[in-house]
Amino acid sequence: MVHISIVVPCFNESEVIAAFHAALTSALDRADATFEVCYVDDGSGDATMDRLRELAATDPRVRYTSFSRNFGKESAMLAGMRMSRGDAVVLMDADLQHPPELVPRMLELHRHGYDQVIARRDRTGEGPVRSSLSRAYYRLVRRFMDVEIVDGAGDFRLLSRRAVDAVLSLPESNRFSKGLFSWIGFDTVSFTYQNVERAAGESKWGGRRLLNYGIDGLLSFNSRPLRLAIHTGLWLFLSAFAYALWIVANVVLNGVDTPGYATLITAIVALSGIQLATLGVIGEYVGRIYHESKRRPHYVVRETNEPPALRPAAAARTASRPASRPPAGLEAAGRARPES
Ligand code: UDP
Ligand code: MG
Repeated sequence: MVHISIVVPCFNESEVIAAFHAALTSALDRADATFEVCYVDDGSGDATMDRLRELAATDPRVRYTSFSRNFGKESAMLAGMRMSRGDAVVLMDADLQHPPELVPRMLELHRHGYDQVIARRDRTGEGPVRSSLSRAYYRLVRRFMDVEIVDGAGDFRLLSRRAVDAVLSLPESNRFSKGLFSWIGFDTVSFTYQNVERAAGESKWGGRRLLNYGIDGLLSFNSRPLRLAIHTGLWLFLSAFAYALWIVANVVLNGVDTPGYATLITAIVALSGIQLATLGVIGEYVGRIYHESKRRPHYVVRETNEPPALRPAAAARTASRPASRPPAGLEAAGRARPES
């Protein structure tokens, strides 16, 4: 019998977490496997931690780790994978958008020898703007990226132990999981399920956050945008050269006519646009080098119910002390947002 770890990043999910856990356990009790659930509280500001402590008190299969602030879903997934001890790991959202009933099917495919089983959602119930934007994005990504990323294939997937170990062995601090999962390779299979709306609470991905995530994805897997900048620059240089030849020829043949004010302005605007864009691209990469070179940890742990031997070093001293709530009349200080 296989032992599986379910990894669940949670950020302000107090409204759904109990329902999620109930649905998950009833789906898995029917499956032919033993399991543990690794919840990672990504610095929630609501009662998510209280819910997790309650769950852990009643269900010994529940393990949890809580971050000192919101570090982002990528860090939470990483922490969950590091906690996991199963022969296979299933990554799931807490909001019931990843139906737990599908886990037994994933396990079945895993038994047939697949190291990665992806559950792809279709775009049912998604607004026309968002779905056409994401389709356009995936087309762009397919053109520019060195790894294959499939539309709708999100983070709902099963990874075998060796696939998890491979992902964990990648050292970068700017993590774009979809790219990493594809980069490690192994036999991969996917199936499609109908998209479901989140059960309660609200999505944490506003337009701006999605845009930043998209840029991260494009830039973290290749240096083609840099190459593109060079190509554009070369083409512009060549056309400018041709244009200059034409002007000289024109002057020689027809003499000087009106000064080319419009031409000048157009050339300046066009060129400075290109230069700014190119600088931006280069700056992005330099920023990434700077970020990677700091080698900061991906997250800081505030609280966990892990046995001391398994705890990350920073958590050992503060372990299991419940998060302090501000006394009545005081307000908690604002929380930092994830660096992205
Ligand atoms: N999440 C997280 N940290 C964040 C944002 C989201 O751990 O900073 C978790 C969230 O609790 C949920 C999952 O990531 O379990 C997916 O988030 P959400 O449902 O908001 O995204 P969407 O389904 O809208 O893409
Ligand atoms: Mg969701």
